[in-house]
Amino acid sequence: MKNRRQFLKVSALGSVAVLTNTACNGQESADNQKDTNEIINIEVKKPIVVSTWNHGMDANKAAWEVLSNKGSALDAVEAGVRVTESDADNMSVGLGGLPDRDGIVTLDACIMDHKSNCGAVAFLQNIENPISVARKVMEDTPHVMLAGEGALMFAKDKGFKETNLLTDNAKKAWEEWMKDAEYKPVINIENHDTIGMLALDEEGNLSGACTTSGLAYKMHGRVGDSPIIGAGLFVDNEVGAACATGVGEAVIRTAGSAMVVELMRQGKTPEEACKEVIGRIISKHENIENIQVGFIALNKNGEFGCYGVHSGFNIALRDNENEKMVDAKFELNK
Ligand code: ASP
Repeated sequence: MKNRRQFLKVSALGSVAVLTNTACNGQESADNQKDTNEIINIEVKKPIVVSTWNHGMDANKAAWEVLSNKGSALDAVEAGVRVTESDADNMSVGLGGLPDRDGIVTLDACIMDHKSNCGAVAFLQNIENPISVARKVMEDTPHVMLAGEGALMFAKDKGFKETNLLTDNAKKAWEEWMKDAEYKPVINIENHDTIGMLALDEEGNLSGACTTSGLAYKMHGRVGDSPIIGAGLFVDNEVGAACATGVGEAVIRTAGSAMVVELMRQGKTPEEACKEVIGRIISKHENIENIQVGFIALNKNGEFGCYGVHSGFNIALRDNENEKMVDAKFELNK
C-alpha cells in the first residue's frame, strides 16, 4: 500500500509549497519516488485565531489586535485569553469562575509556543491571570508546571497581585448548589467553559493557550486537562495545534490534544483529526451521555476544524475575512 506524505516549506511569499510524495514506503525506488513528486502551491491563511465558546469572540478581538499588527501568535493568545480571565461575569474562567465544592476558586492554565516551549500552572488560587503566570513559568524557570502554593509563591515573586476571585454571583451559585451538593457536570454548562485559543501569525508560527476555573464544584485539589500539555493543549509548529474543552478527565485519558496533532501529522484535516479523537472518547466511556468534550485544531496552512461529542459546542473565528461563531459538528445530538 502506498503512503502519502507531504513536505511543507514556507516560501518567501507566505504561501506553502507542498511536495506531495505518493511512494514512500521504502519498497519503492528513489526513481519511482521522483516520478510521483508533485509541487502544489497552497495559499496559507494567516493570520488567524480560533477559540472555544461564545466568550472567544471578545478574546479573539484582543488576539487580533496583536496578530493584525504583525505580532507573534504567542503574544496574541496570551492577550486574548486574559480578556476572558478578567471578565468577572464569566463563570468558568479566572475571576468570577465557579468554585470547587469547598467554595474555593482554583485555576488551571497552560501556554505553548512555536518552539515547543511550554509553561503551566495548576490549582492556582487568588491570581486573576493564570495564563501570564504560566508564560512566566515557561520563560523564567527550568520547569513546565508549578502547582498550588508553589505556583502562588512564584506568581507573587513575579509581581502578580493577589485578588479574591470568588464574586458574589459565583458565591450565590455555590450556596445554591450546596443545598443538595449533588455533583453532576452539566453538558455545555451556560454554553461557556474553558477558553482554549490557537493562533497562526504572519510569520507562519503557531501558539496556543488554555485557561479555566475547571469543572464547577469539583473536589478540592482536582486538576483537569487544561494545564496539561498534550491533553488540554498541544502545539507542534511543523504540523498544527489543538486544544480541548469539556470534561477534562476524558481528555486526559485519551491524550486528547496531542493525539489530534499527531493525526494531522498523518495527513488528516483538522476536522477529521478532532472527529477521530472524539470517536475514541465515545468508545471509552459508558456514561457518554453525561460527557461533553470539544476539540479545535488549526494546521500550518491556517485551516481549522472542530468537533464535539454532543451538539452545542461552538468556536469563535477571526481572520482577514471573518469574525464569527462556527458551530462544531458532533456525534451525539443532546
Ligand atoms: N476542561 C475543563 C476541565 O476539565 C473544563 C471545561 O472545559 O469545561 O477542567
